[in-house]
Amino acid sequence: MRSDSALPFPTLQVVLPLPLPQWFDYLPPADHSPGADDIGKRVQVPFGSREMTGVVAGIGQTTGDGPELRQALGLLDAAPLLHGELLASLRWLARYTHAPLGEVLGTALPTLLRQGEPMPDTHAWAWRLTALGVEGRERLRQGTRPRRFAELLHEGTREIESRPPRDEDSLDAHMDDWRSAARALSKRGLAERVAVPASTLAPSPQSGPELHAEQQAAVDAILAARGFAPLLLDGVTGSGKTEVYLHAIADCLRRGKQALVLVPEIGLTPQTLARFRQRLGVPVLALHSGLNDNERARGWTAFARGEARVAVGTRSAVFTPLPDAGLIIVDEEHDGSYKQQDGMRYHARDFALVRGKALDVPVILGSATPSLESLHNALGGRYAHLRLGQRAGDAKPPSVRVQDVRKRPLEAGLSAETTAAISSALQAGGQVLVFKNRRGYAPVLMCHDCGWSAQCKRCGTPTKSSPMTVHGAGRRLQCHHCGARQAVPPACPDCGGLALQPQGIGTERIEERLREKFTDVPVLRIDRSTTQRRDALAGHLEKLGDRPGILIGTQILAKGHDLPHLTLVVVVGVDEGLFSADFRAGEKLAQQLIQVAGRAGRAQKPGEVWLQTHHPDHPLLNTLINGGYHAFAHSELEQRQAAGFPPFAHLALLRAEAKHVDAANAFLHAAKSALTAAFPSPAERGAQNIEIQGPIPAPMSRRAGMHRMQLLLSSPSRRELHALLDSALPVIYELREARKTRWSLDVDPLDLY
Ligand code: ADP
Ligand code: ZN
Ligand code: ZN
Repeated sequence: MRSDSALPFPTLQVVLPLPLPQWFDYLPPADHSPGADDIGKRVQVPFGSREMTGVVAGIGQTTGDGPELRQALGLLDAAPLLHGELLASLRWLARYTHAPLGEVLGTALPTLLRQGEPMPDTHAWAWRLTALGVEGRERLRQGTRPRRFAELLHEGTREIESRPPRDEDSLDAHMDDWRSAARALSKRGLAERVAVPASTLAPSPQSGPELHAEQQAAVDAILAARGFAPLLLDGVTGSGKTEVYLHAIADCLRRGKQALVLVPEIGLTPQTLARFRQRLGVPVLALHSGLNDNERARGWTAFARGEARVAVGTRSAVFTPLPDAGLIIVDEEHDGSYKQQDGMRYHARDFALVRGKALDVPVILGSATPSLESLHNALGGRYAHLRLGQRAGDAKPPSVRVQDVRKRPLEAGLSAETTAAISSALQAGGQVLVFKNRRGYAPVLMCHDCGWSAQCKRCGTPTKSSPMTVHGAGRRLQCHHCGARQAVPPACPDCGGLALQPQGIGTERIEERLREKFTDVPVLRIDRSTTQRRDALAGHLEKLGDRPGILIGTQILAKGHDLPHLTLVVVVGVDEGLFSADFRAGEKLAQQLIQVAGRAGRAQKPGEVWLQTHHPDHPLLNTLINGGYHAFAHSELEQRQAAGFPPFAHLALLRAEAKHVDAANAFLHAAKSALTAAFPSPAERGAQNIEIQGPIPAPMSRRAGMHRMQLLLSSPSRRELHALLDSALPVIYELREARKTRWSLDVDPLDLY
């Protein structure tokens, strides 16, 4: 009936969580007249033969002359789920990453909300004693968990009506594993779980140490910042950056505002959360990949409703709605886990800055080893540079000793001197961390008779296949790129010989050796193979307690953990990292070394770091050890400038992978033509500041059987680079060659692999 009217009438422009750039037009549901206040609401629509949940991104119009439009089935929200600053920032992110808006919104929303579920209840849970419990509590056996739990609930209260229930967050902070006691009491009718509005929980902060002068200056600078201000908190490990955050957050809470803290993937430990909760005295929402869909949706909603005040979360927590924003903190801002490497490739630190600007609040970037990007901005005066040069309290910086291991006999990678140092550290009652950035038993399995080595059939560089890593005490082979696994063959597949030998050193092999050598202390290996679950690491560390013992680990141990009894850190060879082709390899290695060394001597006991290397004269090691991170960073920045790499140039990487290398190649050639054709005009072409390299094989040119090619765009002008992408991408999406390959665009790629 509408289609015979010549007057235009409004449609809903819908984006769907798909990697498609289009917006889809739908007729509004019956009895609904669309308006601007529908933008940001979720909408159920027919799509092909199925139903999907999308988001209204705009209001269009049609006269009914065009193709027949389908009708939306219904709007799911009375008020927009996405609106204001968050929606505007996400639109910006879609433009910046050149990702479809539907995909960006789909990434930003918690799964349940993306799928169309209603916003969940957001009350907090709390516990209190029942009347029966108040009466019966003293009959519970002294010293047992149920008794301790009952006393905790009873503390300082008389009348049952006036007794505020204890929220679960604060219980976490006061008693380990209170849940089993709670269950036991509730079964007997002595305690009950009650829902309380999250916002009614009163803060009861605990005080921390008195700030030292540098910390105080940093806090003053942060509190003085009104409105948006990027601040780089550049403080050596153990200098008390977290204390600075806590003061800044406490101030934000006093002003009735919300604070968002981002931490790296494996930095969000129960230890960190407990510290935040105790000190701030309010519930602190943890947002990380270990949550189930319900918990995620609840956290997001509690923030959207302004009920929750503080969130500590990993990468995707940057999408948390902040209607009462006061402060954003990015801890360990240099960490690579802030960059999402698939789907919508965004950088949470960079997006945090964009949001901070839009929200007009300060953004603190903290690190002992700032990324060269952030340091460059601080040195150029674009960020305030707050420095903490001293360790807090009585802790002293660790002393570093470089050990030249050329021509020395090594056992499982360890020199005799290193083993002796471990032994004396243990005897003095300390703990030891042995760092080796290679999981598994050995990086290569080789035949001593003919030189054959085990390789992954599906992965490799342009010149050779990737070696399979030896695991399981030498019994299993595994490819760290595609996950392929197989048993170690009984004999050499080439010559039939029996001389198959693991070559090189992985953490498992070091563990085996140290267990043989040090039989009377715990030897714990911590890496991605042993620590699938987040809590597992905390569990391991707890097992160790304050006894002497040895931890062996990969970079998982280099991050954020406070290990007060650690007196010796041994770095077993970093030589692989010294000669990598990746332009960021030096930066990553320097950060890793400083961070892992920074685990030593964080409390009263002084710390020592032993660095074993075959390249004691390598300039990177020299600069780093004699001059520290900043000396290294300055020289690295000079090299980046000379070579035209970030932060002096801006990169975008177009990747393509396909079963047949020709398909990937053909797509990138066509894309390159589209890019070249999109240069404004022949006359201006000479003035273009954009370089296009490729197509060339990716450094990891085969992975999981797919051929991988790439096209690298670089320009000193971010604006010009983006303008070019803006005009060429619509063409690239439509390329015939695009259908035969999987392609993606990575703006500001972290690495070129
Ligand atoms: P960072 O985050 O810079 O590595 P933390 O904030 O975790 O450092 O502080 C390191 C250690 O020093 C912690 O145990 C902390 O409690 C302690 N600390 C921090 N500030 C002070 C201070 N002003 N006085 C005494 N101890 C402090
Ligand atoms: Zn052989
Ligand atoms: Zn593989």
